[in-house]
Amino acid sequence: MNDIRHISTDELTEFLVQEGEQKFRAKQVYEWLWKRGAGTFAEMTNLSAALRQKLAENFTFQHTEIAAKAVSTDGTQKFIFRLHDGAQVEGVLIPSGGRVTACISSQVGCALHCAFCATGTMGFIRNLHFSEIFDQFMLMDRQARFAYDQNITNIVYMGMGEPLLNYEQVMESVRRITSPAGPGLSPARITLSTVGIVNGIRRLADDGFKPEVAISLHCADELKRRARMPVTEHQPLSQLREALAYLHEKSGKRITIEYLMLKDWNDSVEDARKLFRFCTAFPVKINLIEYNATDSGFQPSPEANMQRFIDFLESKNMIVNVRHSRGKDIDAACGQLVRSANQRP
Ligand code: SAH
Repeated sequence: MNDIRHISTDELTEFLVQEGEQKFRAKQVYEWLWKRGAGTFAEMTNLSAALRQKLAENFTFQHTEIAAKAVSTDGTQKFIFRLHDGAQVEGVLIPSGGRVTACISSQVGCALHCAFCATGTMGFIRNLHFSEIFDQFMLMDRQARFAYDQNITNIVYMGMGEPLLNYEQVMESVRRITSPAGPGLSPARITLSTVGIVNGIRRLADDGFKPEVAISLHCADELKRRARMPVTEHQPLSQLREALAYLHEKSGKRITIEYLMLKDWNDSVEDARKLFRFCTAFPVKINLIEYNATDSGFQPSPEANMQRFIDFLESKNMIVNVRHSRGKDIDAACGQLVRSANQRP
């Protein structure tokens, strides 16, 4: 049996017509699935009981549920989602000054093994289907209304996984979330974050990708970067730089560079100079990220080093923001999302 959310709208319409239903029923079912975020056929209350029954007999409905939730003293909330096969991913809701940002996962686990990131220790388990990415958004949107009396205003693909290694499903999730027939979130309010998968970035450019793109650069020295971010062995900085210049040429947008500040690894003035040089081929905004403690053995960059780094970049007229962590007390901050097989919610 097919899952109801894995078939196209045409297939759905065809099925309903075959079953003697009128065409507009397809629109109703579509809305339940992709606008109202139903998790079961039983919720589709404007369909007859007989039709709901027929749907249930002909399709499966894999749904995602919230297995656990933790609330930080700063208002940030972390959710553990249980997927249809029992796999778990995490998502985070971050309220700040009128906005509610949802951080969502694109894969179960992660194949990149960046030395400073807890998710990497899980290894890669599987890709998420677009419906599972969509579910995280929908479930958290409902929670945002309860908790903050507000819908999600922004989405960042910065949870578990590497979005560009699950390209098709991530793109489809963006299409569903931004579709006027669905939640209709503006693409300008979505940011996709990537370690810098070169062919993925070129594909975004060619596909006319509308959301913002952020690169987890963290280091602009090839060998140092490769040592801590092993995947970058096949994604050299020279090629990344060219791909970003190409993306900018196509999208006309500023590229966000994420730079995790780690003591004595990437926080010297020489490192800042390399970062500046890397960024001369396209306009950027630099987000310096505070390191969140994991078991990696790294230390956060001391205030004085941060300041020297910032001063250098600002002397080159670069836009620099410092991103302070949210939700650290509940392990909800960047790089802290991890589910191990024996961990209970
Ligand atoms: N794989 C994608 C999406 C994950 S985004 C990417 O690399 O962009 C999560 C962000 O948090 C990345 O920028 C990641 O490098 C960063 N991060 C990882 N570990 C961290 C830590 N311990 N403290 C702060 N940020 C961390």
